[in-house]
Amino acid sequence: MTTPIPRLPPSNIKVLIVGAGFAGLTAAIECHRKGHSVLLLEKSPDLQPLGDIISFGQNSSRFFDKWPGVRKALDPITHKSEEFHFHAWDGRFVTTQSFWGEHQAWGQRVNGHRGEIHRVVFEHAVARGVDVRLGRNVVRYFEEGGEGGCAGVETEDGERFTADVVLAAEGVRSRGRRLVLGVEDDKPLPSGYAVFRTWFAADEVRENDKTRHLVADGDSHNGWIGEDVHFLAAAIKGGTEMSWVCTHKDEGSIEESWQFPGRIEDVLRVVEGWDPVVVELVKMTPPERLFDYKLVFRDPLPTFISPQARTALIGDAAHPFLPTSIQGASQAMEDGVVLAACLDKAGKGQVQEAVRVWERIRYERVHKIQQTGVSTREQWHKADWDAIWKDPESLHLKREAWILDFDAEADAYASYDAVRERLAGEQAG
Ligand SMILES: Cc1cc2nc3c(=O)[nH]c(=O)nc-3n(C[C@H](O)[C@H](O)[C@H](O)COP(=O)(O)OP(=O)(O)OC[C@H]3O[C@@H](n4cnc5c(N)ncnc54)[C@H](O)[C@@H]3O)c2cc1C
Repeated sequence: MTTPIPRLPPSNIKVLIVGAGFAGLTAAIECHRKGHSVLLLEKSPDLQPLGDIISFGQNSSRFFDKWPGVRKALDPITHKSEEFHFHAWDGRFVTTQSFWGEHQAWGQRVNGHRGEIHRVVFEHAVARGVDVRLGRNVVRYFEEGGEGGCAGVETEDGERFTADVVLAAEGVRSRGRRLVLGVEDDKPLPSGYAVFRTWFAADEVRENDKTRHLVADGDSHNGWIGEDVHFLAAAIKGGTEMSWVCTHKDEGSIEESWQFPGRIEDVLRVVEGWDPVVVELVKMTPPERLFDYKLVFRDPLPTFISPQARTALIGDAAHPFLPTSIQGASQAMEDGVVLAACLDKAGKGQVQEAVRVWERIRYERVHKIQQTGVSTREQWHKADWDAIWKDPESLHLKREAWILDFDAEADAYASYDAVRERLAGEQAG
């Protein structure tokens, strides 16, 4: 018999979560950990290892340590290099950024294949007893009964589910936004950029004289910076697998999708005249493993919660991030962790208070961090090369303690009462 995973005593709070991405899974695990009763509905009928590289900063990877067995299961599949080598587009070496200092002070980052990391987290949710139902496509959100009522959803096959609180974690095309905002709101604007992305076995990388050094010593991380283009390549799993992403100008208007096929010849046009290492990496990419992901902008939402404060948008449903923030998945996880903690603080009778406090705790932090995605991209794409050769470290990623050396769970417990009082004061005044 396996030992049950520890959790707080039952709170009798019913939480219904829609979407089993990192936002929904984290919310489910953390709510279960705090003793709430959880039902998670996911529209996909099975778990596909979709996507490619994804990053979790120390601010979110710390949660993996709180979930028994998860860090150990992640270890063999995650990236091990703590150095990032920057090059100019033509191959001239510029600088190396080391993450060792922060690694020691703030904890360990986690980078790896989205599908593989997702599977580990999903299996942990199931193992600890979260009721996960796959193949349940939610088509409608509702709230009933005013202040003392409930929130709920309806699935495509007509089944209704209700709970004390509903978390809409269904990603960028959230149906929950309709209930929260009162209008249909998915009006993404083209950002003017797209990302070619891939992940493949590194055998050919090892056989090619121009690329062998990328995998010779196991994992590595390299970036090439050009005008309006950057190309990042990660060797992973002891240098046996390779992932690269190439962010570039794009005026196309096709839909955003993690599975939209890309064309090798289009990438070669973007990196024409670049370092032969980059060109070779592109040429050896299996065409069927190349994807073209359009980056779109969405204006910040005015609110993440419904007027009755029983439905909350979390993760990408509330705040999609640009990849250059390197915080999209981390902020999605922080949402779930903070919500579970707020519900724990408030108790069954005060679920709406918990949801309102949660929004207030999250809103400003999320939007401040969202902005870093734009600033990093501009720092690279509009680089002044005369200035960079004088100060190569100006290319380094900004690693800020207020973002990364941050425990969202501890902060939620510490700030809950003050935020609640501020909200009460605002309502009274
Ligand atoms: C297929 C896929 C591949 C991705 N690959 C990468 C990657 O390689 N690198 C990267 O940085 N980020 C990737 N992302 C995005 C990244 O996972 C998110 O930006 C981040 O982790 C926030 O996650 P989220 O849970 O808010 O949203 P998502 O990860 O988008 O998860 C939303 C979940 O909700 C489910 N869902 C949607 N609508 C409904 C509905 N009506 N009813 C029930 N369930 C529903 C979806 O199937 C999905 O499982 C990918 C996302 C997806 C969906």
